[in-house]
Amino acid sequence: MPATYWTFRRLGVLDQLKGSTFVKKYSVQFANEWGKESQPFYFFEDNPHECSQTWQVLRSEFDRMLLENARKHGAEVVEGTRVLDVLFADDRAYGVRVQNPDGSKEDIIAKVVVDASGQSSLIAQRLQLRQPDPVLRKASIWTYYTGAQRDPDLDEGATLVLRTEQRKGWFWYLPLANDVVSVGVVSSIDYLFRDRGDHETIFYEEVERCPAVKKRLAPGKRTAGFYATKDFSYRSSRAAGHGWVVIGDAFGFLDPIYSSGVFLALKSGEWAADAIVEANANDDFSEQRLGSWAPTFLKGMERIKRLVYAFYDGFSFGQFIRHYPQYKRHIVDLLVGDVFKDSLDDVFPAMEESSQMQNRN
Ligand SMILES: Cc1cc2nc3c(=O)[nH]c(=O)nc-3n(C[C@H](O)[C@H](O)[C@H](O)COP(=O)(O)OP(=O)(O)OC[C@H]3O[C@@H](n4cnc5c(N)ncnc54)[C@H](O)[C@@H]3O)c2cc1C
Repeated sequence: MPATYWTFRRLGVLDQLKGSTFVKKYSVQFANEWGKESQPFYFFEDNPHECSQTWQVLRSEFDRMLLENARKHGAEVVEGTRVLDVLFADDRAYGVRVQNPDGSKEDIIAKVVVDASGQSSLIAQRLQLRQPDPVLRKASIWTYYTGAQRDPDLDEGATLVLRTEQRKGWFWYLPLANDVVSVGVVSSIDYLFRDRGDHETIFYEEVERCPAVKKRLAPGKRTAGFYATKDFSYRSSRAAGHGWVVIGDAFGFLDPIYSSGVFLALKSGEWAADAIVEANANDDFSEQRLGSWAPTFLKGMERIKRLVYAFYDGFSFGQFIRHYPQYKRHIVDLLVGDVFKDSLDDVFPAMEESSQMQNRN
């Protein structure tokens, strides 16, 4: 999501991103179950600033870039080390027990433990804080292609969200560098994985059910195997406690649909870091202090979640904009990740009305 720009700027990695081979992303575009495509939602239309463009990153390269940047700015980075447990005295976290690459174990003592362990969500699992999303019980299968169709010019790096027949699911289609496309299907766990054979069989059955993706993949060649995951939507009921804070997927994950994962991980990391600086300055490592960012963060996350729910409820972006052109800016703000402002809430009654109308038709 383009709103990552502001965190990249603070981190000092914008120049590296600009100089990278990552494909530039200017928009998101949707196609309905019959293959009819919406107009692209260009992020710069209402905000012609460089923050309205972002990148389709290769995660291994991007993560390495951020890691080296942390090292460059003075962080001690230890690689190949596994955190076995978070150390608690009563309800206060005071460090971690790790296993080094040579198999030796040691305890590292700290004033604050930041859990950024992604979907393993160490602290939320240990304290039983993990709450699965009751609506989003989804699964995904994905792979990579080369030579698949790419749109020209500004649209080359657009994220495409392409629904499958009867709106049973959708494909992401993400053009990466070196002519690679990441392509994956998302649907309910029950539908995707129940008695349907191996991942390859299911993937190609779904391609057949999605005219927009079938057309794009036709000239291409698959260059990787199949990856799959499921049940990835959940949230920790707490963002912090005495001496600990959880960020990124360790705090929660919504859904792949709007590519909000990396943005929310970066933003929670940034705000938690600010809270830790404050905590250090005040020698106060309480839950209240370390989690001070969470209420605002949750409001933004909730707004994206409403857009996610609307999509699975049959919301059509193209139709909505035709009926409510006055709300286009709100939709673009949600897609960009500019979600921490209350004025965005004006759009939701119209969205709900629009979904109801579409479901009646
Ligand atoms: C199907 C799918 C598609 C997605 N597509 C997109 C997309 O297009 N765009 C987007 O922005 N987001 C996407 N996401 C979400 C995105 O991948 C995550 O939100 C993002 O990676 C979260 O970052 P993170 O740093 O919190 O966690 P991660 O990137 O998962 O990093 C966690 C790290 O912690 C390490 N770790 C875990 N446990 C331990 C331990 N015990 N000891 C030591 N290290 C440990 C892991 O090895 C890993 O390196 C997608 C997610 C899914 C499920």
